Amino acid sequence: MTYDLIVRGGTLVDGTGAPPREADIAVSGGRIVLLRPGRPRRAAEVIDATGRAVAPGFIDVHTHSDALAAVADPPPAALGLAPLLQGVTTEIAGNCGISLFPALPERRAELAEHLRVTFGLGPLAPGADMDAFAAAQDPARRATHIASLVGHGTLRAGVMGFDARPPDSGELRAMCALLDRALTEGAAGLSTGLIYPPGGYAATEEIVALATVAARHGKPYVTHLRDEMSQVEAALEEALDIAVRSGAPLQVSHHKTAGRHGWGATLRTLPRLERARADGVDVLCDVYPYTAGSTVLHAMLPPWVTEGGITALLGRLGGAGVRERIRADITQGVPGWENTVGNGGWELIGVAAAPRHQEVEGRRIADLAAARGADPVDYVCDLLLAEHGEVTIISHSMREDDVRRVLTSPLSMIGSDGVPKPGRPHPRWAGTFARVLGHYGRAEGLLPLETAVHKMTGLPARRFGLTARGVLRDGAHADLVVFDPATIRDTATFADPLRPPEGLHTVVVAGTVAVRDGHPTAARAGTVLRV
Ligand code: ZN
Repeated sequence: MTYDLIVRGGTLVDGTGAPPREADIAVSGGRIVLLRPGRPRRAAEVIDATGRAVAPGFIDVHTHSDALAAVADPPPAALGLAPLLQGVTTEIAGNCGISLFPALPERRAELAEHLRVTFGLGPLAPGADMDAFAAAQDPARRATHIASLVGHGTLRAGVMGFDARPPDSGELRAMCALLDRALTEGAAGLSTGLIYPPGGYAATEEIVALATVAARHGKPYVTHLRDEMSQVEAALEEALDIAVRSGAPLQVSHHKTAGRHGWGATLRTLPRLERARADGVDVLCDVYPYTAGSTVLHAMLPPWVTEGGITALLGRLGGAGVRERIRADITQGVPGWENTVGNGGWELIGVAAAPRHQEVEGRRIADLAAARGADPVDYVCDLLLAEHGEVTIISHSMREDDVRRVLTSPLSMIGSDGVPKPGRPHPRWAGTFARVLGHYGRAEGLLPLETAVHKMTGLPARRFGLTARGVLRDGAHADLVVFDPATIRDTATFADPLRPPEGLHTVVVAGTVAVRDGHPTAARAGTVLRV
């Protein structure tokens, strides 16, 4: 028998967490065949993996890459290829409450503006449902597979706009119906982003109702908690409460305890998650291996400023007394508001993307304001106005010991939380998986190779229902990565954020070689995965 591909002489790290073992594997018809020793075999292509690890393609469970292959005007190719060049073969998008669907027809224009600003890649048309999302992904640009959650913020805006009020019963029914349809069509679960408008306007009850729909489909409730700083423990209790009452599996997104009042709180949050698990709640979390986060600049402002959406926000920033009130709120806090800057300071906030003012990308807000002799709040408001709201930031808000604790927790899997925009995006989009394997796994000795790989493959596949993926076994989909465990390392930095990792040799997507000798091929074998 002649196979399409044989990977010979490598050490299999099979994704289950089992110890590595030497074996050859083959690919036939897009599926994996484990080869027994000593049998003669032929293939159209043979890859020599001697001295290298062979693993299932990595699954990035937390991305904001929904729009990369959906916008009309393609962004720089390096943005789209960054996951592939670190061994990722599947991305799960639609996180933090933001997906490209679903929406009622009458809400799509308003939502389009929100999506344009959030994704920062140009005009976007919200889709009616999962089918529309799938149809909008350009196969000529899909190097990796993509699955999507249903973002609650999009769902809410798609039914009731950006009003800061509870839904009436008809609106809640409409949200549940759209969610049910999207999950039936193969969406991977429900996500919330409870620090962002309009998701943050939702009370716990609303989310319980929606998570109950996800539970009926056996799909997870995935949440960016209402607070990841001083109130992170209360926010975690809300998420656990939603999981218990809805019956949905709970995925805590990019788990962190940030800001000076949150530092060290993983000493309590991780044991709390383990206790909930012991009590029967199917809770897991994900994590990226950096002490800085990334989000939109307007998320640094108190919630009343962003109420009503982007247009309302921009209309407010020049108003009398508005900036004084923002300054006072940041200094004193507002109950229920995360207040990143009050927990840290403008010197910890850097600009990642400001497309009309690229000279400020990579610089800190405090320095930019000081250089102009301006107060930081005035500087931020002026920048938002000049950029039509489209500014992305990097927030250096976490502590190393917390990141390490979450990385080594048996409950965590790896997700980049990549925000792929032109400019200087957070290096996690290009460096996360190599950084876990190289820096934290090998150099710091925090994770055995098979454990690190399990957090990138078998564990996420099981969590998100990606059948026959994330494991090396007969009949599994042939998504593969070959790397050198002794040399793999991330090289992406905040200054040069898309530099590809070293030590990555081969990536196979759907049985097709997508990276050969560390270089991307012309293959675009990625598909839209329906769960
Ligand atoms: Zn998030």
